[in-house]
Amino acid sequence: MTIASYNVVEIKLSALRENYRRIRERVGQQVPVMAMVKADAYGHGLLPVARTLYDAGVRTFGVAEAEEGIALRLAGIEGAIFLLLGMTPEMAAEVIRHRLTPVIFDHESLAALAAEAVKMGARVGVHVKVDIGMGRLGIMPEDLADFFADMSELPGVFPAGILAHFPMADDSDTALTMAQCQRFKEILADDDLPISGLTAHIANSAALIRHSRTFFSMVRPGIALYGCYPAPDPEDRRRLPLAPVMSFKTRVIQVKEIPVGFGVSYGHKYITDRPTRLAVLPVGYADGYLRKLTGRAEVLIRGQRAPVRGTICMNLCMADVTSIAGVRAGDEVVLMGRQDAPDGKASAEISADEIAGWMDSINYEVLCLFGNRNRRVYL
Ligand SMILES: *Cc1c(COP(=O)(O)O)cnc(C)c1O
Repeated sequence: MTIASYNVVEIKLSALRENYRRIRERVGQQVPVMAMVKADAYGHGLLPVARTLYDAGVRTFGVAEAEEGIALRLAGIEGAIFLLLGMTPEMAAEVIRHRLTPVIFDHESLAALAAEAVKMGARVGVHVKVDIGMGRLGIMPEDLADFFADMSELPGVFPAGILAHFPMADDSDTALTMAQCQRFKEILADDDLPISGLTAHIANSAALIRHSRTFFSMVRPGIALYGCYPAPDPEDRRRLPLAPVMSFKTRVIQVKEIPVGFGVSYGHKYITDRPTRLAVLPVGYADGYLRKLTGRAEVLIRGQRAPVRGTICMNLCMADVTSIAGVRAGDEVVLMGRQDAPDGKASAEISADEIAGWMDSINYEVLCLFGNRNRRVYL
């Protein structure tokens, strides 16, 4: 392949496979893993990630909406594909044709799905989303009985599963998560609901890492597959060791010496306090390297940290390499990931968590930002 861009997001598929293996080990063979591959697999690329996981044995995938599910089917991915954001009534025929499993939380889409299923001679199993205190998608628990009663009147659809989502499974205070888990259990045990034997699932990565009693009949990890943690708790790393899958790299395009008192970049927000050697980098906010990183970020050059100086531009930013000998145009720069010095004597790493800290954000957003705006290369 010809290299037409300076910037590249590297995806290490062996790390993805290894993370999946560790997750599988943690939950045990009996509990299926729904691999969350929404948002283009958290920026890692939907199809290469899904194919790798499929080959590793995953048979259940979670996406946001039908378009992504159809892309998986067209790529030959079998097994169950869940649409976590459900469907609109107009999507019903496509959902059925591609054997997608919608998560349902409203009567309209369920009725449309049922009508279409009858027309097509199909019976579609749906998973019902209940809001046990997420304050997001889902039916309130007190409305579940009516909802299931409505469903039983509809030919063409049947309840196959029930799910909920944790808002704070990554919090060090586990009381709320335990209470919500208990609430979910009570719903599952409610004899007035026609849900005995249904697949029940609630655990995201945080719950999977910390609370084995939340596993029920399936788990839904996302961020853990990609080698990041939902919270910066070292204890989590001990419980489930994971390796980052994504790195983000660019190249130096110019090295120059500037004098003391020289303004760098738009607004001259940085003025040199000594004669300075600058490395100009062809990466900026258009590539997901947000302007917010101005005055905060560091990059790796020759296995050492170099501070980014001055305002980050649309396609450029500048690193101070005064203290790093031998930097030249063409040198690799690691924006996220690990880098060894050319002589192998030093090594440094910048994690998605560290960048998230500079951005006042979370590693999830960093992966989506970098991964979905740059050319990806699979290792
Ligand atoms: C994204 C998502 C997950 C995965 O969450 P992680 O924190 O990445 O493990 C699980 N369930 C639902 C409903 C989601 O939207």
